[in-house]
Amino acid sequence: MHANPCPFCAGEIAPATFAETLQLRAIYNRAPLVPGHCLIIPQLHVTTLSQLSSIEASALVPFAARIAELVMAVYGGTGVDLSLQQGQSAGQTVSHLHLHVIPRHEGDVMADWHSELLDSEHRPPLRSEDMAREVARLRRALAMWPERTSAPGIPGALE
Ligand SMILES: [Zn+2]
Repeated sequence: MHANPCPFCAGEIAPATFAETLQLRAIYNRAPLVPGHCLIIPQLHVTTLSQLSSIEASALVPFAARIAELVMAVYGGTGVDLSLQQGQSAGQTVSHLHLHVIPRHEGDVMADWHSELLDSEHRPPLRSEDMAREVARLRRALAMWPERTSAPGIPGALE
């Protein structure tokens, strides 16, 4: 279907997944800019926001809000950066739509934050044991918030 295999559809993101619903999935970034840098992606491959179904689109904001709360709680962020690049000119390198969720701390900003974010190819990927540790940490945190994970459309921990 796609000329280039999509890394998010290829199954290699299963070990990075820490929350998912029927529509959406939260994965830990393979080369995090800062600790806690995650991505939210639709389960089905789309490239632009306008290609999301209305169900996917309306699920996105509450899901992102919960994941943002989660990464701030787990990584101690005092703020959170939500960033989405659509189109090559905007810096979209993976054609599968993805929303960055990045916990932020006072004074953590590099001089050229946006270039750093887009330059994921030059950040070293996590070792699989480091990925497993972060994913386990986030799944545990989610599991400890049952009241926050039981409502429809709210991510639950993956078993
Ligand atoms: Zn895809």
